[in-house]
Amino acid sequence: MKLKPKILKKLESIVGDDDISTDPAELYIYGSDASVHQAMPWVIVRPRTIKEVQEIMRCANTELIPVIPRGGGSGTSGHAVPIDGGIIMDLKQMNRIIEIKPQDLLCKVEPGVTMDDLNRALEPYDLWYPTPPESGRVATVGGTIANNGSGVKAVKYGAARDYVMGMKVVLANGDLVTLGSASKGEASGYQLHRLMVGSEGTLGIIVEVTMSLRRIPKFAAMGIAKFNKLEDAGEAISGMVSSEVTPSTLELIDDIGIIALNKTLNMKLPEVEAIVIFECDGRTKEIVNSDIEVLKQICEHHNAFGIEVSTDPKEMTRIYTGRKKLFAALSRYKEGFACTSLADDMAVPNSKVAECARKIHEIGERHNVIMNAYGHCGAGILHTKILMDPTKKEQWEDAKCAVDELYDYVKSVGGTTSGEHGIAISKAPSWKKEKADSLGMMGAVKKALDPNNILNPHKLMDAPDDWVTATNLRYPVRT
Ligand SMILES: Cc1cc2nc3c(=O)[nH]c(=O)nc-3n(C[C@H](O)[C@H](O)[C@H](O)COP(=O)(O)OP(=O)(O)OC[C@H]3O[C@@H](n4cnc5c(N)ncnc54)[C@H](O)[C@@H]3O)c2cc1C
Repeated sequence: MKLKPKILKKLESIVGDDDISTDPAELYIYGSDASVHQAMPWVIVRPRTIKEVQEIMRCANTELIPVIPRGGGSGTSGHAVPIDGGIIMDLKQMNRIIEIKPQDLLCKVEPGVTMDDLNRALEPYDLWYPTPPESGRVATVGGTIANNGSGVKAVKYGAARDYVMGMKVVLANGDLVTLGSASKGEASGYQLHRLMVGSEGTLGIIVEVTMSLRRIPKFAAMGIAKFNKLEDAGEAISGMVSSEVTPSTLELIDDIGIIALNKTLNMKLPEVEAIVIFECDGRTKEIVNSDIEVLKQICEHHNAFGIEVSTDPKEMTRIYTGRKKLFAALSRYKEGFACTSLADDMAVPNSKVAECARKIHEIGERHNVIMNAYGHCGAGILHTKILMDPTKKEQWEDAKCAVDELYDYVKSVGGTTSGEHGIAISKAPSWKKEKADSLGMMGAVKKALDPNNILNPHKLMDAPDDWVTATNLRYPVRT
């Protein structure tokens, strides 16, 4: 712990002694997220008000102490991992839903509300935030906006960027600013609320958000199509996206994911090379059924077979619940192999979905690791995980080569390093390559807003060039 006692006392006087911790076990837990990274913070503070956040920032800015804002800690690339130590600002206690305005289709919330809690609170008003991440049980509003997250409904309903209307932000020096507004019509000036979307805690602390909402659709139907070839599944997805129907869900799961889900959750999914889950929602049963029929025919045109359609909410929940657990299930795919969150997220043009899915498999095989293909492919978002023996040093070198090769491919087809999970540490080297000519501009924005570089330092454009050595790894690696 590198904090002077006088600073610790100051922080304690701001949040109170129940909301500060230097307990080594807690520091250890708060030193990692869902990524491969680990680094010890010096202290955890849990503010409950905007004023407390401002005072913490004033103190940290004067003393030049790093501050890492943290929500649910479910980031997959080391987003909330404190490379240089410092203060973890846990925002989960700022979890009030301030107001819900059904007539304006908006709500105002604090950043620590989880996405699932938000939707539970909206349901009685017949409203929802339609595109929460699959990690919505723990992922917070602040973390989701800071990562520009989305979810299985991204193909129809977009991502966090499409719902943020305004926000209050505490800057590095403790100043409070109000960005955007509660009107969808706001048009002029720099769209500074949008600058915060995807900023990964490096530009300010989001302390209040005004979000637009949608009415819950009355009807939905889901289809599951089986494919003997991964490429056919990818082509079917591209065909559906470019058709006259907009699905509300369009997900791919390959054979590796299917086996992992069957093994872990006994989901009884068909053990084929790939399945595509498609859903349509809408105002009437007739519209939904006719849209589903169009998508079914596109699947059949691409050699799908045994397509099952369901309107049973229980069956649809069973499929979505399984899908949510895919990341965890993959760690049971092969004995002794861990499921590491590496190269885990990318986005490619619609026409490249099929090719990208196949590339993921090929690259895994070439580098002695297992890589699966899945994701919100209807929105061009593909995920993978790298399954490997994390105790072997050479497997980390294999993983590094696989990550580099995959993102080089993604860049070559006009894709991008992140579709929704963000960049942080482990995706930064590839992202920096992709964004080479705009890194200077991003650095200038960072310097203007955080001249002392205290907000989540060493992430995005400032991340180390080698992610393997950037922090400790969360696994016991034998040398
Ligand atoms: C099993 C699993 C499934 C996932 N599925 C999805 C998915 O479907 N879609 C998706 O988009 N993502 C997904 N993710 C990734 C991750 O859960 C999301 O990006 C999530 O929105 C992060 O929210 P969080 O509250 O956990 O943020 P954290 O991990 O705590 O933080 C993420 C980033 O946001 C910053 N931050 C947090 N709060 C604030 C704030 N108030 N102000 C400023 N910066 C802040 C942090 O500094 C950090 O850089 C998944 C992750 C896991 C483990």
